[in-house]
Amino acid sequence: MLIVMSQDATAAQIDAVKARVAQLGFQARPMPGEQRVAIGIVGNDGPVDAAHFEGMPGVLQAIHVASPYKLVSREWHREDTIVHLPNGVTIGGPEICVMAGPCAVESRDQLLETAESVARAGAVVLRGGAFKPRSNPYSFQGLGEPALELLAEARDHFGLALITEAIDEPSLDLVEQYTDIIQLGARSMQNFPLLKRAGRARKPVLLKRGLAATIREWLLAAEYILAEGNSQVILCERGIRSYDDATRNMLDVIAIPLVKQLSHLPVIADPSHGTGRRHLVGAASRAAIAADADGLLIEVHRQPDQAMSDGAQSLFPGQFVELMSEVRSVAAAIGRTVQAPAVVAR
Ligand code: PEP
Ligand code: MN
Repeated sequence: MLIVMSQDATAAQIDAVKARVAQLGFQARPMPGEQRVAIGIVGNDGPVDAAHFEGMPGVLQAIHVASPYKLVSREWHREDTIVHLPNGVTIGGPEICVMAGPCAVESRDQLLETAESVARAGAVVLRGGAFKPRSNPYSFQGLGEPALELLAEARDHFGLALITEAIDEPSLDLVEQYTDIIQLGARSMQNFPLLKRAGRARKPVLLKRGLAATIREWLLAAEYILAEGNSQVILCERGIRSYDDATRNMLDVIAIPLVKQLSHLPVIADPSHGTGRRHLVGAASRAAIAADADGLLIEVHRQPDQAMSDGAQSLFPGQFVELMSEVRSVAAAIGRTVQAPAVVAR
């Protein structure tokens, strides 16, 4: 339930509503808006009787909220959430944010060279895995903390922000110290203890859609993070498993505008994992931007044929330059712009 206070409601009237919510055994989440305060109720399993609040002084309306993912829902929070990063980059505002880099950090040279090429092409956030959630236990699992140190070095050198994945609670403790955005991967989307830990982190979280997750399950996973107090969440559509193995995954382009309708959180697309094939990444990126994605997460490698993970879907640096120019054209066609990097040193 959402209790909408009238424009001239006093602080005492707001406190009285919060006290009534607590008395009923639920939690009150006040949400100050430009015109008026709304108070959300969480912790109720079934509908709450509006009569508890409708007669109280200062209450304009008590509205039943249908969705189970309340904090994430646009019914509760009408304005778009905008995530701000330390290098001035925003995600969820009018400007599109492109994140790029290798699937995994493999060496200092590999990372710095790839970071330089993506920064020069116009990426504003550097990606790169230090902890890799691999389907095969014998595949490269990532370099761990030394990779985080390299990522931080590359970020600072090129004026980028940093996104890297945490796969469990110990890696999240480490990732939180180094990164600007904590990535939670498709395989972790329903790791509920990890979602709760990310909800207590003091860094924004990028939550990928699970391998076969419905939109409702994805938004409920995000709700876990917001419920712990972290509202800086970015959603990432990265393709879902389909009956057809012609592509690695099926990028669900229409999930982007649908989720933006249901939620105030920014939504970006990962066309690399969404297709699994380098020659499809450009078309999938253009489609995602046309569908109003707030950003892209793209795998780029200086030598994709030598990559220790996801080489087949990683772009050559030159292809990424081309992709950026196409993305700028599509963005312009829908009245948006692509954020430009602040500094590119070296
Ligand atoms: C990745 O970004 O490299 C990754 C492992 O992605 P996903 O969780 O979408 O498979
Ligand atoms: Mn990858």
